[in-house]
Amino acid sequence: MNDNVITHAARQAPEIELDGAEGEGGGQILRTGLALSIVTQRPLALTRIRARRPKPGLMRQHLACVQAAAAISGAQVQGAELGAQALHFVPGPVRAGDYAFGIASAGSCTLVLQTVLPPLWLADGPSRVQLQGGTHNPMAPCFHFLDAAYAPLLRRLGGDLQLDLRRHGFYPAGGGQLGAQITPAPAPGPRPFDLMARGPRLSAHAECLVPGLARQIGTRELRVLHEALGWSGEQLRIGPARQDEGPGNVLMATLAYAHSTELITVFGERGRPAEDVAQDLVQQVRAWERSGAALGEHLADQWVLLLALACWRSGCGAAFTCTGVSEHLRTNCAVIERFLPVRIALEPAAGDGLPACVRVMPR
Ligand code: ATP
Repeated sequence: MNDNVITHAARQAPEIELDGAEGEGGGQILRTGLALSIVTQRPLALTRIRARRPKPGLMRQHLACVQAAAAISGAQVQGAELGAQALHFVPGPVRAGDYAFGIASAGSCTLVLQTVLPPLWLADGPSRVQLQGGTHNPMAPCFHFLDAAYAPLLRRLGGDLQLDLRRHGFYPAGGGQLGAQITPAPAPGPRPFDLMARGPRLSAHAECLVPGLARQIGTRELRVLHEALGWSGEQLRIGPARQDEGPGNVLMATLAYAHSTELITVFGERGRPAEDVAQDLVQQVRAWERSGAALGEHLADQWVLLLALACWRSGCGAAFTCTGVSEHLRTNCAVIERFLPVRIALEPAAGDGLPACVRVMPR
């Protein structure tokens, strides 16, 4: 089938209208909407973009997501401008291939990847995507999170995601570089599976990145983890000394279990003592360990999209547990239900320390 025929089909398919002010009211509605518009070949009309944010409309990172989505699908777009609060996006078919996308700021390039990954994962051939911008941003999945927590789960659905970090990008300088190799799930397509428990712990370690800053910051952060969590030796690592990158500081704890991995991050800030950053991480690690959920809050809202796609394609249902039902998760589920013939039931935690449950069922 040639592109024109399918673009025509997308034009004729009923448009999906999304209100960007609903639920969480941020950039995730845009990214999930773009990804699903391409996958389902349904035009997207999005209004009130990021209406619940202090600076609504498309910021550089969001504009880069629109441009990347248009590039992989040959879409016709109205409203792809900085500050735009409405967008009309008519996708063509996804085209596997080699792409390079950059954000001329420290905007998160992992969120650009989050936009193009679902369609490229369901494409008819492998793709390579080079990304530039922020690789370690607060309020976004960092490179290490995607690599350690997200990619292994995607592989279990089918297909492959290989990531490599070439240069760190921290706010405000940005300039990070990462590469992604995406291999679609082989026929008959992705296979959903239940993820109800994390299983026994296999390993735990912390890594501190301090590009462009004194290594001593890292030593101080890791000392707190040693004292509070009892981690030592190989469990405490300082990333490569790169004085030409950053500056930036992130402290990451990676907890690997039989069925899932959680990666928790805390970012250092000018004026915030290293010990304070580390104590914050300790509290979050303890809270995570108390919960029996398979997935943490952030992985849950990202996983539900891949799982829903796998359920749709296979016609089978699947479920998972997570630490709680966040507004991001709720909002992403609402967007998914607008595009895909699935129903997503959210069962909040029945008590303190108990996990929440998410069930995706084909309609
Ligand atoms: P905004 O519109 O708020 O400027 P945004 O486009 O940057 O937003 P959100 O809509 O807030 O993004 O979505 C952020 C995404 O990043 C969500 O999928 C969320 O789970 C993920 N995320 C946030 N913090 C983390 C973290 N520490 N680790 C992993 N993922 C994270």
